[in-house]
Amino acid sequence: MSHSDNHRNKEERAFATKLLHFGAEIDEHTGASSVPIYQASTFHHHNIFEPPPYDYSRSGNPTRQALEDYIALLEGGARGFAFASGMAAISTSFLLLSAGDHVIVTEDVYGGTYRLLTSILDRLGIETTFVDMTDFEAVKAARKANTKAVYMETPSNPTLKITDIAQVTAWAKEHGLLTMLDNTFMTPYHQRPIEQGVDLVLHSATKFLGGHSDVLAGLAVTADDRLGRRLKQLQNGLGTVLGAQESWLLMRGMKTLQARMEASERSARRLAEWLEAHPAVERVYYPGLANHPRREIHEKQSRGYGAVVSFDVGSGERAKALLSRVRLPLVAVSLGAVESILSYPAMMSHAAMPKEVRAERGITDGLVRYSVGLEDINDLIEDLDAALRGS
Ligand SMILES: *Cc1c(COP(=O)(O)O)cnc(C)c1O
Repeated sequence: MSHSDNHRNKEERAFATKLLHFGAEIDEHTGASSVPIYQASTFHHHNIFEPPPYDYSRSGNPTRQALEDYIALLEGGARGFAFASGMAAISTSFLLLSAGDHVIVTEDVYGGTYRLLTSILDRLGIETTFVDMTDFEAVKAARKANTKAVYMETPSNPTLKITDIAQVTAWAKEHGLLTMLDNTFMTPYHQRPIEQGVDLVLHSATKFLGGHSDVLAGLAVTADDRLGRRLKQLQNGLGTVLGAQESWLLMRGMKTLQARMEASERSARRLAEWLEAHPAVERVYYPGLANHPRREIHEKQSRGYGAVVSFDVGSGERAKALLSRVRLPLVAVSLGAVESILSYPAMMSHAAMPKEVRAERGITDGLVRYSVGLEDINDLIEDLDAALRGS
């Protein structure tokens, strides 16, 4: 019996406690205070008549397994899986589909997912229809005889559009469709999609879960064991697994998820309100703002608003000027770290998307995305104010 099994079930504890007491936090063999890094590719068969619990690290590694159980616990799912990147998690999951299948995808999906669907999976005969998922009629209208899955991202990237998770999953279930959701922006601290009926939750753990801009990783959680077995077969068959070192590093970052998310969210709310009143800013996107479209739906399905604030400064020239003047945030692709990160979707995350398609989706040349870190918010505001005023 492990240390944390003695009293209350670990599933029943508060989220903050689960982050520290997830089952493998104390090494059973030595009492070590963190999960050992099993830097091994293969495992000795002590008894050739009895298969060992671990056989070969692509198929299973104890360090990775600890992380996989950890994310399953946090999302409230049956099985977790760790991948080499968010895109490895997403692409492996899409291979649950077969040639001839059709998937309905939120139109302002992450740029890399858009690229996967429109330049790789299309060649393999997997067909996609992108829809504005804030329009439920449009989602329903997109269903065809060969539709097999629905893929959501809420709040979406970078304009933070809200999909009603329970509404879409209830409809998808009626039609036997698999539901997948990219939960990168919210993390299981703010939003647990499995509780809303989603079958498969995906993460770029490179972002908030890792939290320190020092590890590339992806995670997936299935709501049930049956889907878990299918995804396990794909993870092993494709070999898209996360290594032991990265698995350890990710768990190290995840322990502080709640503390980091709370602090960054508090600052993001202040930043969004300040930006709304700024004369150089044309539009602010943040689910915590009173006028954010479908805010009440977001509040029904999430416990917070996250740390990503997007805003439009009106033109590409102004956006580039801003990016070259800020002193504090990292100007980079990515988000969800201890340091603030300012990115420029038109030239970075959404560069793969044709300009016309971007424009249709509100990803204008003046749009920038601010991922609020743990710096003092007054310093961040002062820095941004100076950059916006051109000083
Ligand atoms: C970054 C990101 C991904 C891709 O993850 P990688 O770890 O970069 O492969 C997928 N979805 C969202 C929402 C992201 O922000």
